[in-house]
Amino acid sequence: MTETELSADQRNVERADGHGPEGGVVKLYERYVAPTYARLPVVFTHGRGSYLYDERGRRYLDLGGGIAVNALGHAHPAMAEALAHQAQRLIHCSNYYYTEPQGRLARELVVRTGPGKVFFCNSGAEANEGLYKLARRFGHAEGRFEILTTYQSFHGRTLAGISATGQDKVKQGFGPLVPGFRHVPFNDLGAMERALSPATVAVLVEGVQGEGGVHVASPEYLLGLRRLCDERGLLLLMDEVQCGYFRTGRFQSWQRILEGVPGGEGFLPDGVAMAKALGGGFPVGAFWVRERHADLLGPGSHGTTFGGTPLACAVALAVLEVVEQEGLAERARQMGEMLLDRLQDLVGRYPRVLAAARGLGLMLGLELQVEAPGLCGDSARSPAARLTGLLLEAGLLVIPAGTHVIRLLPPLNLSEAEAQEGLELLESVVSRLG
Ligand SMILES: *Cc1c(COP(=O)(O)O)cnc(C)c1O
Repeated sequence: MTETELSADQRNVERADGHGPEGGVVKLYERYVAPTYARLPVVFTHGRGSYLYDERGRRYLDLGGGIAVNALGHAHPAMAEALAHQAQRLIHCSNYYYTEPQGRLARELVVRTGPGKVFFCNSGAEANEGLYKLARRFGHAEGRFEILTTYQSFHGRTLAGISATGQDKVKQGFGPLVPGFRHVPFNDLGAMERALSPATVAVLVEGVQGEGGVHVASPEYLLGLRRLCDERGLLLLMDEVQCGYFRTGRFQSWQRILEGVPGGEGFLPDGVAMAKALGGGFPVGAFWVRERHADLLGPGSHGTTFGGTPLACAVALAVLEVVEQEGLAERARQMGEMLLDRLQDLVGRYPRVLAAARGLGLMLGLELQVEAPGLCGDSARSPAARLTGLLLEAGLLVIPAGTHVIRLLPPLNLSEAEAQEGLELLESVVSRLG
């Protein structure tokens, strides 16, 4: 780039950088950010607890939680303090060496998941990628490599991630995909059993499907998959990226789903992917491997530069401490039950707009009617996207899942008053439609 071009560009940035009605920040995105997201028309500048504030100072109740990421809400002082403190000591050093926070965080995850070991990465897609490699390594000597996943699943946006994901829309235009993935209907044990081939090495499911519309795995399904995998020598892998981290009321979703279910006490998968809420908003991912396979990925077999930095792990440890001290697992369970109750009530009162409410803990889905008045008939935006837009205008943030479901994935420390406010905002918009 020549000097004149550079300064022309800089001038452009300056001009576009002003805030205000001409949408300076949006213009920056239009010019410089790859257009891979259909963003909503709002520019956020800061947050506090369950609220976000836009550049005009308007307040929004955030029940989307950054897609199940902001476990403690925004700008939690314990996180800010852990970040500042650790940043002054050591931010990053290579995985050629040992650092204390990584070892301590690994122990905390193992204690809450089951006997085994943990590998740290930076995102959910990468955590799943580690599980695919674990499975390939596991079956390599026998020539087995195939991983079965379910329709409506979501496992991330890398090439292997979209290959594993059971939704055509993420795959379109990116072929050829990574070989060795096939999909079967969710919560259908027979379908999984019939789909097994001599090449199958693993099964991967979410405990609660998130992007697919909030569908909870049944206890019989999980126990049946465990039995099937034991009988056929397969790894049972679980993607807990969204449904894990106390969201359902227990650390991992299967712990909640199998609570009090005969035969459920000893249940453990062979590998588990985690990310999203693990760092409370700071990027950190991990996968856990059960004891008997924990050394399968040996020195040199896997790695990532940023995995498990002292900064990421110190923050994750601080988030965990707050969750425990404030009893947020229990809070998620209780607040989730209350919210689900009230959402079902809403479905009963607005049956022309709302079809169903479902979920577990603070992972909740509200399904819209196919013909919801005021929401369909726009070919560019799905009913879920249109409702999300209307709720934004009303000051409420939610996350769409597919074309007809909106999700509530609020902070685990959501207060009762905030939950109440969210329900009122939701009803104010839904009542206008139906
Ligand atoms: C978000 C998500 C992923 C992908 O995580 P990234 O951090 O976006 O790579 C994978 N699996 C599930 C279930 C998710 O919800």
